[in-house]
Amino acid sequence: MVTYTIDTPAFDMIDITSYVREAVRASGVEEGCALVYCPHTTAAITINENADADVVRDLKLAWGDIFADRSDFRHAEGNSAAHLKSSAIGASELIPVSNHALVLGTWQGIYFCEFDGPRTRRFHVQVMSG
Ligand code: ZN
Repeated sequence: MVTYTIDTPAFDMIDITSYVREAVRASGVEEGCALVYCPHTTAAITINENADADVVRDLKLAWGDIFADRSDFRHAEGNSAAHLKSSAIGASELIPVSNHALVLGTWQGIYFCEFDGPRTRRFHVQVMSG
């Protein structure tokens, strides 16, 4: 397993595709899959378009509406909306590996989603053969 550390802004999607490609290359695995996992409760991993930056902008805008903060939330830390986003988007993605490369669509990128930054965050990549 490879662990990466990144510094994040308050609320953003950070393209981590190059990190995952590097982990796959370093693993030497020819056929299998790569698990990308985020060990945080107010962040997530997702796959989406990396060509038009407006897609990220629109997702962030909509997530802000869908998972809005509420005055009757009780969580003392005050970041329940970030916890909601984390659970809804999910802590991991599993991507096929073939011919030593990630199997991603032309417009797909892997994103680390920060919902409660700025923070120093980690994510793990486990490349498995099979
Ligand atoms: Zn919290």
